[in-house]
Amino acid sequence: DTIPENSIRKVRDCIFSVAYPTPFISRVLLVAVSKDVLEGILDLDVSVKETDDFLQLVSGGKVVLGSIPLAHRYGGHQFGSWAGQLGDGRAHLLGVYTNRYGERWELQLKGSGKTPYSRNGDGRAVLRSSVREFLCSEAMHYLGIPTSRAASLVVSNDDVWRDQFYNGSVKKERGAIVLRVAQSWFRIGSLEILAHSGELDLQRTLLDFVIREHFPSVNMNDSNRYLDFFSRVVLETANLIALWMSVGFAHGVCNTDNFSLLSITIDYGPFGFMESYDPNFVPNTSDDERRYKIGNQANVGMFNLNKLLQALKPVLDRRQKQLFTELFRAKLGLLGESEDDNYLIAFLLKLMEDTKADFTMAFRHLSEITQDQLKELRIPQEFWALQDLAKHKFFSDWITIYLLRLGRNMGDSDSTRRKRMTAVNPRYILRNWMAESAIQKAKMNDFSEVHLLQEVLQHPFQRQAAAEKAGYSLRPPSWAKDLKVSCSS
Ligand code: AMP
Ligand code: MG
Ligand code: MG
Repeated sequence: DTIPENSIRKVRDCIFSVAYPTPFISRVLLVAVSKDVLEGILDLDVSVKETDDFLQLVSGGKVVLGSIPLAHRYGGHQFGSWAGQLGDGRAHLLGVYTNRYGERWELQLKGSGKTPYSRNGDGRAVLRSSVREFLCSEAMHYLGIPTSRAASLVVSNDDVWRDQFYNGSVKKERGAIVLRVAQSWFRIGSLEILAHSGELDLQRTLLDFVIREHFPSVNMNDSNRYLDFFSRVVLETANLIALWMSVGFAHGVCNTDNFSLLSITIDYGPFGFMESYDPNFVPNTSDDERRYKIGNQANVGMFNLNKLLQALKPVLDRRQKQLFTELFRAKLGLLGESEDDNYLIAFLLKLMEDTKADFTMAFRHLSEITQDQLKELRIPQEFWALQDLAKHKFFSDWITIYLLRLGRNMGDSDSTRRKRMTAVNPRYILRNWMAESAIQKAKMNDFSEVHLLQEVLQHPFQRQAAAEKAGYSLRPPSWAKDLKVSCSS
């Protein structure tokens, strides 16, 4: 009885609180595991999923002998305002695992019950949001975007009550838990709370720890080391946001408590992939002021970094633009650099915005169509997103300058261009309608589409028969038109 209870409280002078997961009352079911995470990160054979020990571990039923689970104390700016103490309100850090490659990974359960930081929450996560987090964090990894990973997904029959955002009623859903892993779960808000409450010694301790563990290239003996650390966070965060933009990913809740100090994508809530190109795309229904619209992510990234350190704004701005251009050059198959590349990119994005052509598939179709077909403006039916784009009166003008620019690629052929482009323009992303379709089945205990999506999204750049059959590269079905996702999860 020396272990404190998970009672909700204002916590001071610490970075973690001891907090044990609350097991579900009903029987739990293992829905899915990531073989890659189990075998490539956790040194486990995937067959471990058949064991009861594993089920206990990933559902918070039992902790590994010797492990003292923790909830992290952090604060944050939410939607632009200081929100005070937040912290892991429904997550438990189970421990740190150093694998056979010497990599250090932190294992964390999400949805595993109350902690001192639960505030008004129940400490739980529902099946639908857990399916989305499980699928998307893995999908982002296979898109080549730094992210937390998901090892497993379990669902229980325990009741969890959630607001239904579309009609304001409250509905019973099922509790689920995802075992997530990341090299670190520290966020901007981890440092902010210590600064805000004047715990500066502790802040220095945490900073030195993070730098020593995760920023080996920063010289610990340098008096400038914090500045050096900050400038790296700025750079990496700018890179991350540019990568998000390059696949049309809107995080949805870019609060400082959801921005990792390691610049990996964390906290998958009401995220969304943009379908038709629209800089005003907002995935989160509760974001009334459209603060976190996709076209504003670079700005809020800057806001967040400014909260960390006010002075680095010019650095972010320049680097951000550079990488953005580089990524879109690659998406268009351009080699070398030409002065007009930014014009070419901006021109295309404007055509997309005007025609509402599908962002992902328009780039993909440009990667698959031949230059001869483009030259003759002969666009086959299968390239439906390009057909949409071609409705624009300036499409042929854009094609003309695009083909001229491709002609300046040194030592290139059309087939190598297409190969290069299909390797960076995904054919499959986790669209809301796809997640929704899998969730509807999962609610009836049919996890087949969760598994199908998991498989397909491991190879987002590769055409797959099962994915084609499921319609994942087709126009979204009409019922999915106004699908929105809320924060309530
Ligand atoms: P998020 O918007 O997901 O970043 O969450 C913001 C804060 O709310 C974090 O401190 C979460 O731990 C907490 N939180 C969200 N949902 C719950 C819940 N169901 N129970 C307890 N805390 C929660
Ligand atoms: Mg969060
Ligand atoms: Mg969240």
